[in-house]
Amino acid sequence: MNLNDLHQDDSANQVANLKRSIASKLVYALGKDPAAAAPRDWLQAAALAVRERLVERQMKLDGVQAGQDGKRVYYMSIEFLIGRTFTNALLALGLHEDVRQALDELGVDLEQLPELEPDAALGNGGLGRLAACFLDSMATLNLAGMGYGIRYDYGMFKQEIVDGRQVEAPDYWLTGGNPWEVARPNVQFKVRFGGRIETQGEAADGTANMTVKWVDTQDVIAMAYDTIIPGYATDATNTLRLWSAKAVDEFHLQTFNGGNYVGAVEEKNAAENISRVLYPDDSTQAGRELRLRQEYFFCAASLQDIIARYLAKHDDFDALPDHVAIHLNDTHPVLAIPELMRILIDDHGLEFARAWTITQKVFSYTNHTLMQEALETWPVDMMGHFLPRHLHIIFDINKAFIDATNEQFGIDVERMRRVSLIDEAGERRVRMAHLAVVASHKVNGVSALHSDLMTRSIFADFAKLFPERFNNKTNGITPRRWLSLANPSLSKLIDARIGPDWRRDLEQLGRLRDLAGEQEFAQQFRAAKLVNKERLASYIQEHLGITVDPTSLFDVQVKRIHEYKRQLLNVLHVITRYNRILANPDANWVPRTVIFAGKAASAYHMAKQTIKLINDVAEVVNNDARVGDKLKVVFIPNYSVSLAEIIIPAADLSEQISTAGTEASGTGNMKLGLNGALTIGTLDGANVEMRENVGADNIFIFGNTTEEVEALRAQGYNPREIIEQNEELRQVLEQLRDGLFSPDEPARFHDVYKVFAEWGDHYLLLADYASYVQTQDAVDELFRQGDEWNRKAILNVAGMGVFSSDRTIAEYAEQIWNAQPVKL
Ligand SMILES: *Cc1c(COP(=O)(O)O)cnc(C)c1O
Repeated sequence: MNLNDLHQDDSANQVANLKRSIASKLVYALGKDPAAAAPRDWLQAAALAVRERLVERQMKLDGVQAGQDGKRVYYMSIEFLIGRTFTNALLALGLHEDVRQALDELGVDLEQLPELEPDAALGNGGLGRLAACFLDSMATLNLAGMGYGIRYDYGMFKQEIVDGRQVEAPDYWLTGGNPWEVARPNVQFKVRFGGRIETQGEAADGTANMTVKWVDTQDVIAMAYDTIIPGYATDATNTLRLWSAKAVDEFHLQTFNGGNYVGAVEEKNAAENISRVLYPDDSTQAGRELRLRQEYFFCAASLQDIIARYLAKHDDFDALPDHVAIHLNDTHPVLAIPELMRILIDDHGLEFARAWTITQKVFSYTNHTLMQEALETWPVDMMGHFLPRHLHIIFDINKAFIDATNEQFGIDVERMRRVSLIDEAGERRVRMAHLAVVASHKVNGVSALHSDLMTRSIFADFAKLFPERFNNKTNGITPRRWLSLANPSLSKLIDARIGPDWRRDLEQLGRLRDLAGEQEFAQQFRAAKLVNKERLASYIQEHLGITVDPTSLFDVQVKRIHEYKRQLLNVLHVITRYNRILANPDANWVPRTVIFAGKAASAYHMAKQTIKLINDVAEVVNNDARVGDKLKVVFIPNYSVSLAEIIIPAADLSEQISTAGTEASGTGNMKLGLNGALTIGTLDGANVEMRENVGADNIFIFGNTTEEVEALRAQGYNPREIIEQNEELRQVLEQLRDGLFSPDEPARFHDVYKVFAEWGDHYLLLADYASYVQTQDAVDELFRQGDEWNRKAILNVAGMGVFSSDRTIAEYAEQIWNAQPVKL
């Protein structure tokens, strides 16, 4: 049979085919009577019908790929923050109109369905969302790729706000079934933990020619679930393969046969807990042992899968680097390195040096943070307990690396201590980032500034040893989701002027520059923004009962709540503005709606205090009759991909105000710029490149630069001096201290006060306060000149072409992976 026979693709038949296929899914796959089907059932049925079309594409592509036997890119990430899939699939397949019509003929309104789909929230924030944008771009660029991760039963927690405080609720996203995934019970691998190693035979150098067995392990099964990622305007697709943990049968049968049924079930649960829940914090390691198990679990399963696919066509490993590129999204998948070494040496008998040469050609690594506290390390003892063989291999790698370095560059004990894969100060720990750097042929940062700082700070020694290894790949975002889907009104306008091709060639947005001065276009651009602001205002009214004026300036800070991102600096400005309005109520105020959204890690006290403070300030400001419409403060709960798709298109002003040198890139900044928000930001992360691309006149830059931050710290930064010299700031801090915003508990924000007045203001908010407030005045001034603001907003959209993740992925493919597109 030919796959083409399954569906006739001419559009006359398309609607009829879809209609038949949706109805048949509803009845036969879901067992629902159309007369009694709820909208959710129709969504499920439509999703299954659309998935069928994806599966066909996938199968065709598999055939083509197998024929070409090119290089595949495996993108390993412990997080994939996908969001919803339905409308993205319709866009990619060009099926939106046909499905709408098919459903219409079945008496169902397509527009009611998308919001019923739960988000796939298998990630915390930027890192996981980047992985999702990259899969989209890899498919769109016809790269033979695959994402590997974990199929968490519980994704990112749901954030509820109760009495102004964050309350976490579980996100059981699979309750209603997930129509986009295909379970692959035939793709299962055993993953081993614990046990001990047995060595046989002597080796002169202590490594080679010695057979090593890893025995007496406790085993878990990893089972694959595949989600097809469609490329846009291409027949190519990509697979996201997520692993779910299952108990090994023998494992609990033994206990069961011993008569201990409950014990057997408990053991089963313990095994399956590995893929139970996403750790709700990407910068610290809570639940440490389980987290380490998660990391090895998905590395071991993925490597077995990759090697099996390779060996289906090859008899030895010489050509492995020509067919396999494995990319490590941060250090969470770094155990894939010793795992590949183990497979090559123990399972296939390669010598250490040969295995190492191959491994280095296969791996590449992206660093996402320079902050010491966020760099992953694992206690040697813990790793030795769970992964005794891997710890040995890491020691062997370390020895070979140090020996080679000493030979080439001379013995330098201090350097040895600094670059070692093992941190010997205090409890011995494995430095995962060092292992990643030593084992990878390429190491990249995620913005020009970050990549530069990376080679001058945490990896300075390595950059001297291997300068050719380090490079930059500035992050990007997919224009399909973040403009085409999220912002229909602006997309339609852009289509009308420059055609639809910007969706796969975002640089075409540059053509909007010529239209920025045209009155009709400017007016339509403004109208498109207003539609989005009205949509968000309705959402806020409906969900929070707060009335906001869609013509006010929408000032938006949406991202994880973290001290380095400085939501508190934003709050200091809000309070300053409140005080100024009270002092001068009749001045010509630009009405503002300050919008926050973001989750705090559940154990992060100061982040949770920040949420409570925002809500307490909102309570006071929003209910002060003297303020009226001049200022509103809104915290929108449960920031997520689908909420971002509503908030971002409505923003006038994008707050990107991290301490210079702390935000590796940011991608929220790009999404907001692409949707026509003007940025107020520091020279941090990708803000620097955004300034270059939109023009310094079209962005509000303030605050200390990275060098100035370094200098301030070096000379002994003293926030108290700043407080003493700034009357307005002192008033704000005293109001916090004295409970103006927490009259029911005046001491509630003492710790927030102390951050500045007693604990040294680590992220230098006060050093940037005056500059920030002054720049906010300039924001008001420009917003008063509506046309000029609007013109600059257009120029921001026009300048965002380079921030497409298609550009980023094309650079990875060419400069890191050496991978060519599949020829279709
Ligand atoms: C883009 C995105 C982020 C990252 O935002 P930053 O401002 O770059 O930190 C986090 N969460 C969600 C849901 C996103 O869509």
